[in-house]
This record gives sequence, structure tokens and C-alpha cells, in this order.
Amino acid sequence: MKCTLCGGQTVYIRQYDKLALCKRHFNEQMTKRVQKTITRYKMLGRKDRIAIGVSGGKDSVALLDIMSKIEKDFPESELVAIIIDEGIENYREEGLYFAKKHAKRLDIEHHVFSFKKDFGYDLDDVIEILGERGKDREYGACSYCGILRRKILNKAAQKVDADILLTGHNLEDEAETILLNIIRGDITRLVRLDPKPRKIHHSLIPRAKPFRTTPQAEIVMYCYLNDLEYQELPCPYAVEAYRGDVRDFIFKTQEKQSMLSFNIVRGLDKLLKMVTDVPSGNKMQDCSKCGDASASNLCKACWLKDKIDIIQKI
Ligand code: SF4
Ligand code: ZN
Repeated sequence: MKCTLCGGQTVYIRQYDKLALCKRHFNEQMTKRVQKTITRYKMLGRKDRIAIGVSGGKDSVALLDIMSKIEKDFPESELVAIIIDEGIENYREEGLYFAKKHAKRLDIEHHVFSFKKDFGYDLDDVIEILGERGKDREYGACSYCGILRRKILNKAAQKVDADILLTGHNLEDEAETILLNIIRGDITRLVRLDPKPRKIHHSLIPRAKPFRTTPQAEIVMYCYLNDLEYQELPCPYAVEAYRGDVRDFIFKTQEKQSMLSFNIVRGLDKLLKMVTDVPSGNKMQDCSKCGDASASNLCKACWLKDKIDIIQKI
């Protein structure tokens, strides 16, 4: 089969629209879609200092690479990579290596922050202290990891003086998050998935997901075609994720319905157009301890810190 756009050698056929693409056009389509997503949701300003959270996995490595191409057209903007070390033994080291390697390759300023330095404990420490899941520990490791990563990423974005923080969440990640919020009946969080970055609290750097309409399979292909190395080893805690079931459902159903994730994400966009009362900053409080955004008196990170400190004292 020949490339639909130039007749050259096809390297990839998109299942959802049957477009056959050669390497050049595949790369072009990837970049164009990210540009379109950024424009449609007004994700970036021309003079923004843009922070990108880079884990060293396929999504963030591809996003860093594509953003470095897009950013060349905006000489007044700047890119800065934020790399977080969660502290997961025999796993995180490799991701950090790839994250730093790509930032250096693209000549992008990068900074490493860690759970240990900013929170006082590695994720491994947190899990060891909290104990066995279901017995002593209430939630899966990913819940604690998520609480701390969100907090430290935001802190890091503040420290590097970023206007916006980009993350590598892809189409299926977004579809998963939407479904999870529906399953949990958490409509407040569902409408907060508004793709247009907003300042919802004075302490929060606005966030955006330029890959929210890019399928995972195309990100993997992009890395492969462009020789971008990334961490493939799964996190040892991933088995505890509740997300796993929803993720399995999405990928299984997608085999027969290739538009599934697009439909879920577009469905949210349509819903957001109908909703006028999107919860904004006035619904977020200041954490009584650290002053950061919180849904209640104490933010989740401070709640976790208190819990760990109490257990440590016993
Ligand atoms: Fe953190 Fe879970 Fe991801 Fe591991 S799989 S890095 S614990 S969120
Ligand atoms: Zn707090």
C-alpha cells in the first residue's frame, strides 16, 4: 500500500480513518495534530515559558521531541523539562536516564526534583511505612504516587518560573480518566478535565495535555520511527492500579471500535460546551498547612505527611 498523501512507502495505517502514511507524512501528521490541539484549546501563549513533565516513558519523550520542533516557530517562548524522581528502586533510575538524555539531546534546560527532597520520603518509603494494601494501607500505591507527583510537579513548575505545565497524557489516558470519573460519579472532577488551561487556584500553574487527541499506538510508532529510546519496564506498583481494569476495557473494546477513545474525549468536549457552571477557583480552598489548593481544609499531600508522621512516632 502506498502513502495516501505522496505515494511513498507506507509505514503506518491509521485504523480509524484508514489513512496510509510514509515516515515523513506520519511525523508531519503527529506534529500537526499536536499544533491543532494546542490552538483549539488555547493551550499556549507566544511568550510562554513552557514546562514539560518528563518521566522518560514513551509519551513524555515523544512530547518533548515534538514540542522542541513546534517551539522553534515561537522564538519568544522557552521550553524547560521537569523530571520527577518518585524513588522506586530498580525502576525509576532507567526512566530518569532517558528523560535526561533526551533533554540534553534536544538542548532543553532540565531540572530534577524528587519525592525524597520535597516530601521527605521516597514512594518506596511511603508504601513500606503505610504497610500492606487492604490490611494497613487503604489505597493502591498509584494513589499516593499521584498525590505527591501532582504536588511536586506543580512546585517544580513554580520554581522554574513556568507559565504552563504540559504533561504527556495521551488519548487513551484521557478517555480512561473520563470513564473513571463517571464510574465514581465524580462530576466535579469530570468537568475539571476541561482541556483549556485555567488558573483555578492562585497556587496552581495551569496545565495542558497536547497529546489528549493522540492515540497511544501512534506515540509508540513515533518513538520507533525516530529512534527515540524510552523506558518500557513497567512500574512494580502498576499491578495495584484500579485504572488497570478500565484501561483493559478501553483497549479491548477499541479493537472492534477504533473510534472509542475519540468518542469518549469528544463526548466530554460536547458536554463541557453545555455546562456553564464549571467549578473554578472559588471552589478550591487554601490548605491550612501549606497554602496550596485543596478541596478541603487539608490538602492530600499534607494529610499523607501527617499520617506518615503519626505512624513513624508509634
Ligand atoms: Fe507511580 Fe503507579 Fe505510575 Fe508506578 S505505576 S509510577 S506507582 S503512578
Ligand atoms: Zn497542604
